[in-house]
Amino acid sequence: MMKNLIFATNNEHKVAEIRSSLGNLFQVVSLKEAEIYINIEEPYDTLEENAREKSSTIHRLTHQDCFSEDTGLFVDALNGEPGVKSARYAGEPSNNKANIEKLLLNLTSYSNRTALFKTIISLVMEDKEYLFEGICEGSITLEPIGSSGFGYDAIFIPAGSSKSFGEMSIEEKNQYSHRKKAVAKLISFLREQGNI
Ligand code: IMP
Repeated sequence: MMKNLIFATNNEHKVAEIRSSLGNLFQVVSLKEAEIYINIEEPYDTLEENAREKSSTIHRLTHQDCFSEDTGLFVDALNGEPGVKSARYAGEPSNNKANIEKLLLNLTSYSNRTALFKTIISLVMEDKEYLFEGICEGSITLEPIGSSGFGYDAIFIPAGSSKSFGEMSIEEKNQYSHRKKAVAKLISFLREQGNI
């Protein structure tokens, strides 16, 4: 029988990206599908702790194997900002458009526009936690390009591409993405453990 894993997120874009990189290796159950309606806070200063908060909260509620992920965009010229605080860079409540505007404004006087996305996946399986990291290096555009994806996708061009994530299909984004790289490590781990 195919393994089931609850994915502790309310972000449907993340669910779609992860499903697309999995094929039918295992079944990802979103919080909505599991009928769990909660918004888990991300109060910590590291991606690892925030990811752990999400996976452990869902594990406590369901007692089932589950995973979560936390992602940040780290811009070199801004000393790694917005980083762990990427979702609320322009303040509460989280607003993608305002976040992008603030980031482009803060970068105006810099010629170095290199940045990276980092994803940390926290898997809770049989009461133990495992972490997997994925990094995608690239650069920040001068203005938003494209309307696909979510978050900061329209202002990020991954190294090796001439298109922004905002111009890519999920499949194209997965050729470069931080999230896909972290998922690939999760898949290898589950294979090694004989779970898939
Ligand atoms: P979180 O992991 O949901 O906390 O995301 C942090 C912030 O980064 C949010 O503003 C997201 O919209 C944004 N974000 C997360 N993953 C991606 C991505 O793959 N592309 C663009 N923005 C992202």
